[in-house]
Amino acid sequence: MSRSGLVVSAFLVAGVVGTPAAFAGKSEKRVEKKADKKSDQKSDKKSDKKSSAATKSSKASGKKSGGGGGGGGKTATKTAKRDTKSGGKSARKGGASTRTLSRAVTARTKMDAGPTGFTWPPSQKMLDAEKACEARLDLAGVAWQPVERDGRMVAAIVSDMNFGGVRFMDAWGRKGPHKLDCQLAVALEAVGHDLYALGVREAHFASLYRWSNVRAFGKTVNVLSRHSYGLAMDVVSFRDAAGRAVNVAKDYPKKDALLLDIEKTINDSKKFRLLLTPRNDPTSHSDHYHFEAVSNYTAKAPEQAPPAVAEPDGDGE
Ligand SMILES: [Zn+2]
Repeated sequence: MSRSGLVVSAFLVAGVVGTPAAFAGKSEKRVEKKADKKSDQKSDKKSDKKSSAATKSSKASGKKSGGGGGGGGKTATKTAKRDTKSGGKSARKGGASTRTLSRAVTARTKMDAGPTGFTWPPSQKMLDAEKACEARLDLAGVAWQPVERDGRMVAAIVSDMNFGGVRFMDAWGRKGPHKLDCQLAVALEAVGHDLYALGVREAHFASLYRWSNVRAFGKTVNVLSRHSYGLAMDVVSFRDAAGRAVNVAKDYPKKDALLLDIEKTINDSKKFRLLLTPRNDPTSHSDHYHFEAVSNYTAKAPEQAPPAVAEPDGDGE
């Protein structure tokens, strides 16, 4: 593995997250079902034997939020274990892509994978940064409420999901609560105004918070996805002011002008460290746009804007 390049692209590591199977809430439902069947006690007991950060997180969230967090954590742990094994085998076999993937599951990669300034449990500095984030939401005029966090959300909030005049709606009609981290809300509020100007009125999301590891090239790697932090959203379709619906799976291949404009606008906003679309990830993102907010857990004051651009050094985010 040491022979492989040091660069694990941010795309590879972060690229990922929502496969089509994750949609319709299927994977989430499966996780929830599992959680219902297993007691927290069992989940936590098993977690004690593991040392991964993901497991520690699931314990923390399990204590706070009940079976959902614990069960999700268990699932992530099992997946990570399996992939670590397969990663080793792949490395011995060789092959460029598998070498790169095995690189992605090293302990070092895992530690580098979190958002800027992120530790778990959240440090006081991080909590202060989220206070600053919430102050920015207030300044933007977003009505929000704090809620109990899930997964690795630091400052979980709920709002009416109207950001910049665009209604972000659950594509499957699930009632929620649709929790998200403050930093995603700030990013959506900012880009929402730009999308509104394009004529966008609704964005239909298939997934928001979801306890999951990153998936890349059909493999799950031992890196938490940004969905687990409440920092990512998967949007499957948009609706414009005239009521026309544009669907990523159906209309992106036709080079739909609105979809392409939305893609460009989100990228130009610099509020998202990663936007995955059929263009840059046709394998895993042929049917949705995956938005990942730029996050910064070191901000000290409401006036301090988040960094304009994500670090390009492939630190695993
Ligand atoms: Zn996603």
